Amino acid sequence: MTSLFPRVPFNEFLIAVIGLYFIIVVRYFIIAGLFYWALWKRKTKHIKLATQDPSPKLVRSEINWSMLTSIIFAIPGAYMIVAWEHGGTLIYNDVDKYGILYLPVSAFLFMFIHDTYFYWTHRWMHKPKIFRVFHKVHHQSLNPTPWAAFSFHPTEGVVEAMIIPLLVFIIPVHIGVLLFALTAMTFFGVVNHCGFEIYPKSWMQGAFAKIMITPTHHSLHHKKFNSNYGLYFRFWDQWMGTDKWEPHPQFIANSKASSS
Ligand SMILES: [Zn+2]
Ligand SMILES: [Zn+2]
Repeated sequence: MTSLFPRVPFNEFLIAVIGLYFIIVVRYFIIAGLFYWALWKRKTKHIKLATQDPSPKLVRSEINWSMLTSIIFAIPGAYMIVAWEHGGTLIYNDVDKYGILYLPVSAFLFMFIHDTYFYWTHRWMHKPKIFRVFHKVHHQSLNPTPWAAFSFHPTEGVVEAMIIPLLVFIIPVHIGVLLFALTAMTFFGVVNHCGFEIYPKSWMQGAFAKIMITPTHHSLHHKKFNSNYGLYFRFWDQWMGTDKWEPHPQFIANSKASSS
């Protein structure tokens, strides 16, 4: 019987860790840097959620923790890539293998399982004793910036790093869907902490903001600590009664104006 997790050559694994660390860091600097520059360094029309401008000390701290988290993310990620090269994962190239319909189904499945895992581990990390060790670092940002996307203590980094590399051994996934899921993780991490509501007003007043986590939703988590634990979707918060929704007054004013 073959093991679920195959042995991989150590030198290949080491090269993959270095390569992947580089990719994760560059992707983080591009996405977070773009949002930081566009929202905080220029005049923007987007609604500001942050009650205070970020200090250089906070930005430095968010970047430093994120650099450390990137190493932790690179380790299981590199194992996943090398195991894939040796045929030990369920990652596949040929779209026809499971049909075209399986692509969106598997993308949703990956995001939903990731979201479920995130919601419950995140709630667990808010237990006072666990919080002090695992999650306090992330909540140093009362008014987070885009750089807070990976601003985790290494203990929290380990918890967050495991789930996607584990899923590729259990659920078949097309390489394109996997790359989409990984990019979505960085994108939502950056956007949900960006300090501004970037989605169009019609989305914020419609179904999108009822289903998806938005900066408005996640910034409430950083202010109140006891609600809004989700990553992508509001399902779990709504099902478990931990969902708080306080739209910015400007959205309410605009919805009244547009409906009259
Ligand atoms: Zn939290
Ligand atoms: Zn956060």
